This record gives sequence, structure tokens and C-alpha cells, in this order.
Amino acid sequence: VCRRLVGRTAVVTGAGSGIGLASARRLASEGAHVVCGDVDETRGRAAAEETGGTFVKADVTDAEQVEALFAAAYDTYGSVDVAFNNAGISPPDDDSILETGLEAWKRVQEVNLTSVYLCCKAAIPYMRRQGRGSVINTASFVARMGAATSQISYTASKGGVLAMSRELGVQFAREGIRVNALCPGPVNTPLLRELFAKDPERAARRLVHIPLGRFAEADEIAAAVAFLASDDSSFVNATDFLVDGGISGA
Ligand code: NAD
Repeated sequence: VCRRLVGRTAVVTGAGSGIGLASARRLASEGAHVVCGDVDETRGRAAAEETGGTFVKADVTDAEQVEALFAAAYDTYGSVDVAFNNAGISPPDDDSILETGLEAWKRVQEVNLTSVYLCCKAAIPYMRRQGRGSVINTASFVARMGAATSQISYTASKGGVLAMSRELGVQFAREGIRVNALCPGPVNTPLLRELFAKDPERAARRLVHIPLGRFAEADEIAAAVAFLASDDSSFVNATDFLVDGGISGA
């Protein structure tokens, strides 16, 4: 592994599990100070201990807790160079437009989309003062394709993340801030395993559509996160960065 992030500070939300955890490990291994945000104290603390970083208990739907998360990064390490706004939840059980209720819909928008708004709002002022920053917002391949998987709230929330990332990437590029949406395909994480345990048919249907013939491992997504965080991606901005095994192109 290269050391592209020495001296940089990276905030990771949802750092306690799955893509967030793998990314926290990878960013740390490339030299970054990692600030691990999670609503789950046990998992988040473990991630921070393992990566030599700092844990901040933060529910990404709470504006004050999100502000405190980014403030802790700045106060502890003196900069906010990377914001990996990644925490999210899977779709409610029956997320078809015909079944999903308004409360379930609102909850998904809050955790998956409003959270990204709050994190960007908190991170970008630090990055503007530094004249440098990389924001990576976790969307999903589902934002790029329709699929008969009945997940209307989830797909809509991720479409919002993608559009917001483009908008911000265009707005702040001249200030040295890049904003990209990361679009993973199906990744072997607790979130996906939980979803497929409820509906095994769904796993089989998904697999058929992935040209690479398998689900991603979280480390493969983390490698893309490290690239987007580093100066190696200096000309990558306002894009939907697909790491999906070809599923959205198939
Ligand atoms: P995961 O469930 O393994 O991990 C999510 C982490 O986020 C957990 O540690 C959880 O405690 C935390 N979290 C949940 N709600 C939170 C809140 N309100 N505040 C703070 N932290 C909170 O999930 P994952 O599979 O690693 O997914 C991470 C992101 O990637 C999500 O945004 C998800 O939608 C997206 N994604 C996942 C896949 C996949 O197949 N796994 C594919 C595309 C996109």
C-alpha cells in the first residue's frame, strides 16, 4: 500500500462496519489521521482503536452531533482534508412504492440523504479555509439504474446523494474542493447480508446481473475511497464514481 495521505485528516461516518470500517483501515494505512464517527459506540470505538484514530459518537441525522464530529477532527489534528460521508441504512422491508409508508420513506431520506447534506455543510467551511479538500459521499449503483427490487425510498435517497455531490463539486471546484459520489455495487457487508437473509431470492437475482460474477469485498471499495481521498484523483470531480463490477453497465 502506498502512503498518499500522510498528514491528512479524514472523517469517516459509519466507520464501525462494512465499507466505512474497511475505508477507515485503508485511509489509516495510507498515513491519514482517521476520525471515526458512528452512532454505535462499541463498533465505532473499536474502529478508532484499530486505526489509531479518534472515535466520536455521532448520529448523522443530528446537526449538532455532525458539527461536533468535524470540529473534533479539526481540534484534534488541525485540518479536515477528507470527508467520507458514508453512513446509511438499507431499505425498509417492503420498499415498493405500493407498500412503503411515509414514515419509513422519511427515515431513509433522513439517514441516507439529509445526513450527507449535514456532513457537507459541516465539512466544507473547514476545507474552504484550507483551500483544499476531498468530499466523498456514498451513493450506490442503484442511483444509476432502475431494478425490479422494490426499493423506492433507498434508490431515491441515493439519487439525491449523487445529484448533491455533482452540484457541490461544481460549486466549490475553484476553491480546491472536490466532491464525488461513490457508487458501490453490491458489497459483502453486514448491511447486504441482512437484506439478503430476509430475501434469499433477491441475492440470487442480484448475482446474475453482476458481470464480474460476485459481490464486492469492502476492501475493494476502500481502495477507491483512498484514491478519491488522495491527490491521485486530482482531476476527478463532481462524478458518480462507480465501483460496481459492471452491474450498472450490463
Ligand atoms: P453497514 O450496515 O455495514 O455499516 C453502516 C454503519 O453506519 C454502521 O456502523 C452503523 O452503525 C452506521 N450508522 C447507521 N446509521 C447511522 C447514523 N444515523 N449515524 C451514524 N452512523 C450510522 O453498511 P455498509 O454496507 O458498509 O454501507 C455503508 C454505505 O454504503 C451506506 O450508505 C450504504 O447505503 C452504502 N452502500 C452499500 C452497499 C452494499 O452492498 N453494502 C452498496 C452500495 C452502497
